[in-house]
Amino acid sequence: MVCDKVGRPIRDIRVSLTHRCNLKCIYCHGEGERHPVGELGVSEIERVVAVAAGEGVRRVKLTGGEPLLRRDVFEVVGRLSSIPGIEEVSMTTNATLLADMAGELKEAGLKRVNVSLDSLVPERYKEITGFDKLDSVLRGIDEAVRVGLSPVKINMVLLKDLNDDEFWDLARFSREKGVILQVIELVDLGDNSIFQRYHAGVEPLESELQRQAERIVTRSMHKRKKYFLPGGAEVEIVKPVHNSDFCSNCTRIRLTSDGKLKPCLMRNDNLVDVAEPLRKGSDPKTLRELFLKAVELREPYYRAEDE
Ligand code: SAM
Repeated sequence: MVCDKVGRPIRDIRVSLTHRCNLKCIYCHGEGERHPVGELGVSEIERVVAVAAGEGVRRVKLTGGEPLLRRDVFEVVGRLSSIPGIEEVSMTTNATLLADMAGELKEAGLKRVNVSLDSLVPERYKEITGFDKLDSVLRGIDEAVRVGLSPVKINMVLLKDLNDDEFWDLARFSREKGVILQVIELVDLGDNSIFQRYHAGVEPLESELQRQAERIVTRSMHKRKKYFLPGGAEVEIVKPVHNSDFCSNCTRIRLTSDGKLKPCLMRNDNLVDVAEPLRKGSDPKTLRELFLKAVELREPYYRAEDE
């Protein structure tokens, strides 16, 4: 198992399959990718993940853009799931296309899925995403549960004066569907006006959850808190902003859609290009060196001494 210079083990790789998306969420950070050109092919992604697995990475999260827009997404899931050492391939998706794909994704080896859903109110959903696709998303969630992707999690980005009054509705909805609600603090990745306008602190919500929860668990990943509420709802809080605990417990590295190893969501000045070496047919030893270089470049974005 490889660790970075502050001793964090690298257990997860977040792989962006494409920068293309069929929604236009007002706040989207696009996984921190800036103007990517081209997309890695399935074999190229497989070669990078195999090297990562050799260094102790155990989980793959597919993301984007919208990963379900990739025509070869079933093949990607199948090939990555078969890599020795990889224990779990999961995906984050807007679920607009999931209803027709969930069964085949499960058969290909997908273990679980996170579905982005910020509002249950059709007009608000459209205001946030730019599209009138709430019904397809809801069908996608039902189908994901039906085919046994587990757990299904709903990702709700908390947005001031836009959906922050909908938390309890989404918590109830999640309980009824038997899925987990994950509340995500809005991250600022450049478009400061969006952050200024919509950023909502999660602290008031956490205080209320602490008061109501029957049980609270702290996950090792990012020291995320998970609240078990009376009646069965499960709520996880993802609080990355100015949170040194989040960074010091981050075990994740990223692969951009155009083939760059990305040590941190928040930075683009320390990327390690693997696209060119992949195209030149570099051997696993060279790819391993590049992977270790990216690990070496990892450093916590928020540090306790700066807080
Ligand atoms: N299209 C896929 C989806 O909707 O899940 C994958 C890509 S999307 C960038 C992955 C996750 O990042 C989504 O759950 C989304 O809500 C979250 N996200 C996007 N921009 C964000 C931001 N500025 N702050 C916090 N979370 C964000």
